[in-house]
Amino acid sequence: RSKFVVSVIVLLVAACGAPATGRETKPPESALVGVTMPTTTSQRWTSDGENIKHNLESRGHRVDLQYAENDVPTQVKQVESQIAAGAKLLIIASVDGSALTKPLLMAAEAGIPVIAYDRLLRGSPNVDYYATFENFRVGIYQAESLLTGLGLRNGDGSPGPAAGPFNIELFAGSADDNNSAFFFNGAMSVLKPLIDDGKLVVRSGQTDFQAVTTLRWDGETARKRMEEIVTTAYRRTKVNGVLSPYDGISLGILTALKNNGYAPGQGFPVVTGQDAELGSVKSIIAGEQYSTIYKDTRELATATASMAEAVLKGRTPPQLNNLNDYENGVKIVPAFLLNPVSVDKSNYHKVLVESGYYSDDQLR
Ligand code: BGC
Repeated sequence: RSKFVVSVIVLLVAACGAPATGRETKPPESALVGVTMPTTTSQRWTSDGENIKHNLESRGHRVDLQYAENDVPTQVKQVESQIAAGAKLLIIASVDGSALTKPLLMAAEAGIPVIAYDRLLRGSPNVDYYATFENFRVGIYQAESLLTGLGLRNGDGSPGPAAGPFNIELFAGSADDNNSAFFFNGAMSVLKPLIDDGKLVVRSGQTDFQAVTTLRWDGETARKRMEEIVTTAYRRTKVNGVLSPYDGISLGILTALKNNGYAPGQGFPVVTGQDAELGSVKSIIAGEQYSTIYKDTRELATATASMAEAVLKGRTPPQLNNLNDYENGVKIVPAFLLNPVSVDKSNYHKVLVESGYYSDDQLR
């Protein structure tokens, strides 16, 4: 009988989602968690997906992991079927951050909490938490490494040996990803003053966020835009650096440059990146791509899984503090932010190999 009373209390507290005061509620045995990721075409998202899955499974939960291959209707369907299958929690890295309001409403009506993963879900009140990296800082790091590569700045932030002016071009991520503007604005907070005083010149004239975005972060789209720029704005002069927001875009830019007479080792432009994807780290070692931003997806997955565990227990995730809130157009979403790390040839071994993220063998 006392066992029955305890279970009724546990069920009631769990159902109300009340914060546990005193006695802890028991997590539902083996809750089904729906995890949706944007695409398998980028290594970071497959690692994210696998890391979250393993983490939640090791906590005794079941995970339905889906990839939307950058297609919005596919992701909408995936989330809706996870709701129909009885998911107790949804973890979503969106393709288009504003396109999931309908399934998010369905989730709210079914009492299913939602964690936005890496990319903020916008325009809906039905988002409970957000786990990501310091996105504005990612952009600052990208711009700083561009300046270091050009010689305008030393690695320690002091003025570098070069005076400029240098020609640079700017790329941003997909306009429907809330992170893209954060990365771009972070980068421009560093670059704009130098553009304004003529140390950096953007010969294409394309400096507005909307003019430089890359739909769905597609490397091929970036290759085409870079080819267009070098063949029109750089007939009589050379481009010295390119702000690239993501490794897949960087590889497209590198191809465009090589197709147009730029040769690694001979005044090759400084190209930035993000995610420390294998191909780009190899490119950095080979002296082609200049830098990337490492975001430890193992840490993000672990943080999100423990957030998930707290939410399933009806508690406020312990990692949160209100300094990190993100505004999604409709509400303030409590967020947990991790630190990115800037990586180039000088520190890749220490940051990526010594941390166990890659082995020496993988990078050969
Ligand atoms: C992520 C980046 C990633 C980009 C492209 C962004 O939302 O924060 O890490 O490079 O999407 O996949």
